[in-house]
Amino acid sequence: MLDSVTRSVMWFRRDLRLTDQPALSTALAESSEVLPVFVLDPAFNSAGAARQRLLSEILIGLRGATGGALQILEGDPVQILPELVERVDAQTVYVTKDFGLYGRRRDEQVAAALHASGRRLRGLSSSYAVEPGRVAKADGEPYAVFTPFSRRWREHGWTIPLGKPVDPNWLDLDRLDLDRNVIRRTATLAVDAVAELDVLDRWAAFRRERLGSYGLGRDIPATEGTSGLSPYLKFGVVHPRQLLADLDPSSRDHIAFSSELAWRDFYADVLFHQPETAWSNLDRRFDRIAIDNGPAARAKFELWCHGLTGFPIVDAGMRQLTRTGWMHNRVRMIVASFLVKDLHLSWQWGARFFLQHLLDGDLASNNHGWQWAAGSGTDAAPYFRVFNPTAQQARWDPDGGYIGRWIPELGTSTYPAPMVDHAAERIEALSRYGVIRRP
Ligand code: FAD
Repeated sequence: MLDSVTRSVMWFRRDLRLTDQPALSTALAESSEVLPVFVLDPAFNSAGAARQRLLSEILIGLRGATGGALQILEGDPVQILPELVERVDAQTVYVTKDFGLYGRRRDEQVAAALHASGRRLRGLSSSYAVEPGRVAKADGEPYAVFTPFSRRWREHGWTIPLGKPVDPNWLDLDRLDLDRNVIRRTATLAVDAVAELDVLDRWAAFRRERLGSYGLGRDIPATEGTSGLSPYLKFGVVHPRQLLADLDPSSRDHIAFSSELAWRDFYADVLFHQPETAWSNLDRRFDRIAIDNGPAARAKFELWCHGLTGFPIVDAGMRQLTRTGWMHNRVRMIVASFLVKDLHLSWQWGARFFLQHLLDGDLASNNHGWQWAAGSGTDAAPYFRVFNPTAQQARWDPDGGYIGRWIPELGTSTYPAPMVDHAAERIEALSRYGVIRRP
């Protein structure tokens, strides 16, 4: 038992759950009362409507799980948090460490503001199985290639998930005599709630029904062969540790699934060490490749965005994205390759559009996924490998179940003819990419 009242704040960010939540468990163990808080930062306004809606649904779920204790505030955390902490007389603000460029800068500023009034920001754990920066070569250098990274990542390992706090000692704000102008509860728009337990149920169903055939099933966009957990991993409704703890290391399919989680950690690690690669080519030789620009290029981009290229697998993917906020991984690779190699447009255009529409939109996985397709990133597809969208469709959607679902007008005169000749554009792409072979 703690003898005197020690209040703290649990500042939730990309860790919107109660189970396996080291920052929260530590806050509860070290304080007699904990105020759970989320700050809707205006910086999040750049996310598309779908991701904003999902966030508010998750927040409503979390508020329910805290019995209404979660305070959802709106504004700049650098101003709001120190103010709030002073008002409620808390000593420490607990957070899950953020390794993103924006998050790190913001946290430094919040920590400095808290420090000025004798308080502190305490970071624990991360959104990853292994914290960015922890998986390193023997000489301390970061890995630039996935396979050795993933080997070392498995050797490093991760902790066993913590349970859900029992009877948490939330701070009841109504007991305090507070100026309500400081505690600005926002009216959240969503009516639905996403509950942590529903996400864990989804994982359990995937494990039961589809994980055993993940190796094959994960590439077939017409079926639900993947977990669909990416939006929840993004917001931390579930943590990779919780998934990894349920895997059987002797099963090939389970290993294939954990490798995908390793990719997530790998890209976060690459971006942590080289933040400039969020929007610049990791391989700077690719800066020399000619990219189309101007009104004609913009018009082509619009057709791609609207799923009107005349290549069914590309159009189905883009329509799935804009209508549901999610796209199958195989199709993400195909549409990305098409934008870069058939249309000769900048991968950054595609990455920005994805980030706007994806529920799981994540700077590290997205922008490095795009660089993989463009050939300019880590472990990139070799520049001379140009996906043929027609062959990809024949291979991965042989019965047309996926394209048919998203393009009802397929086979009618309203569906456009292919906007480019793939064979000719492939030759054009190879000729442009040829500059990187010349010194
Ligand atoms: P599952 O197959 O069930 O995989 C489980 C988890 O592993 C995923 O939820 C995800 O967290 C992780 N994962 C799987 N594949 C990858 C991968 N290639 N790279 C990194 N992590 C992976 N993923 C995002 O989470 N956010 C993005 O913004 C994003 N943008 C992408 C852009 C492009 C161009 C490409 C090619 C891939 C992108 N990915 C992104 C990776 C991948 O497509 C999605 O993670 C996956 O489709 C999510 O579906 P799932 O949860 O059913 O995956």
